[in-house]
Amino acid sequence: MLPPAVLAEFAALLGPERARADADTLALYAQDETPGRCPPEAVLFPTSHDQVADCVRLALEHQLPITPRGAGSGNVGGAQPTPGSLVLSFECMNRIVEFDPANRLIVVEPGVVTQDIDQLARSAGLMYAPDPGSGAYSRIGGNLAMNAAGPRAVKYGVTRDHVLALRAVDGSGRELRTGGRTSKYATGYDLTRLLVGSEGTLALITEATLKLVPAPERTASFRLCYASDTAACAAVQRIMRQPVVPSALEFMDRRSIDAIKEYGAAEGLPPGTEAVLMVEADGPAEDIPRQVAALEAALRGDGLLELQTGFTPAEIQNLWTARKSLSHAVKKIAPLKINEDIVVPVSRLAELVAAIDAMATLHRLPIVSFGHAGNGNLHVNLMVHPDDEDEMARAETCLRELVETVLRLGGTLSGEHGIGNKKRQFMPLEIEPDTLALMRELKRVFDPRGILNPGKKLPD
Ligand SMILES: Cc1cc2nc3c(=O)[nH]c(=O)nc-3n(C[C@H](O)[C@H](O)[C@H](O)COP(=O)(O)OP(=O)(O)OC[C@H]3O[C@@H](n4cnc5c(N)ncnc54)[C@H](O)[C@@H]3O)c2cc1C
Repeated sequence: MLPPAVLAEFAALLGPERARADADTLALYAQDETPGRCPPEAVLFPTSHDQVADCVRLALEHQLPITPRGAGSGNVGGAQPTPGSLVLSFECMNRIVEFDPANRLIVVEPGVVTQDIDQLARSAGLMYAPDPGSGAYSRIGGNLAMNAAGPRAVKYGVTRDHVLALRAVDGSGRELRTGGRTSKYATGYDLTRLLVGSEGTLALITEATLKLVPAPERTASFRLCYASDTAACAAVQRIMRQPVVPSALEFMDRRSIDAIKEYGAAEGLPPGTEAVLMVEADGPAEDIPRQVAALEAALRGDGLLELQTGFTPAEIQNLWTARKSLSHAVKKIAPLKINEDIVVPVSRLAELVAAIDAMATLHRLPIVSFGHAGNGNLHVNLMVHPDDEDEMARAETCLRELVETVLRLGGTLSGEHGIGNKKRQFMPLEIEPDTLALMRELKRVFDPRGILNPGKKLPD
């Protein structure tokens, strides 16, 4: 338990309401969206960069680790407290500092909700392109720390591609300012790209200057039903080989379709559907017919059972119904979802899907895979009962086999969810010892006493 005198020191910095150690607050901040919980010693709610720096200095003085937190929607345990740590929540640093449409940029504090940035940008005909599924509640600091992404990444890129500059506090309490306000910037080392995706282990981000892009005028959607996973994966390859880049290219495998059927949400899918692709095109209104024609030509091929197109918001929403029901449908299969977020080169997607199918049979596990096929990024969900020891042991073996398969296919452990405390044991399988050692040295430079989010990202 945190000595009351130490809590009082934090309260003196932040105000009594913003340094809390009551049981309800500790319980609320003991977990994120990942299974497992560990109550922190206290929860801090700074309201400015200077307060964050003061908190880090005081934490250093008392040797207290800090777990940074946005909305706690992460699913790799990144915001899960480690024993004895303080949670530093950014939710009260939620101001838009500057909106500058002329220079296509916005400066925000880390606690701003992701979707609010996009909404404000749209008022000036611009958009903030990264669109994680959790954007209605995730905070931009969490997105930056995890290098979050969503369906639009296939055309517009991931969070890292939309950051011009950062202000941050490192593990010594030093202020860092990285990058600038211009779209071209070649001065110094690119610390901006290093901090994005560093999962709160190198520095606490206190302000971000984000790039905005013109909002597309029109959107068109396709829903395509295929007779097999193989046919759908072949269509993904054809799409990515031709020049019109879709603004979304999402895949649902055979077991996803089974889950939707069992949930009763498969109405409208033709009989024999074993895989579905959701595809979007966006851009100037006059360019949409050209894009639709090119994408349609690429999507047609062996195994296509049905192609539907939507142009109005109602038509588009209707086409996405099956996809939107998937997360509820999956929950019916088993109480615990072990959610992997692996990526392979698009040309190897079919091999990956076939390998997952074989693993599901071999290990007798329901495995549901869907996700951002245009990036080769699949969310592979092993559905398990946590109190079934035999099933959990089979899931563990299967997980390792999955990671090994992904690496053999030239892929990577995580596309957007990050490593957190859940996947770091697999890091040595992907990253060579010398590179891993350099990463540890970098960690020591930014955080010599190891107080920033210990137990995350790097393996012990
Ligand atoms: C239903 C659902 C859908 C999702 N869909 C997607 C998706 O489509 N794409 C995707 O990428 N992710 C997705 N996620 C995962 C998650 O929402 C993202 O990782 C998101 O970026 C986390 O933001 P957050 O504000 O909740 O951060 P948290 O979960 O609170 O924290 C995430 C990490 O960031 C660190 N952190 C937070 N703020 C800061 C800061 N200011 N400085 C330094 N470190 C900080 C934390 O310590 C932690 O390591 C989804 C999650 C859910 C539950």
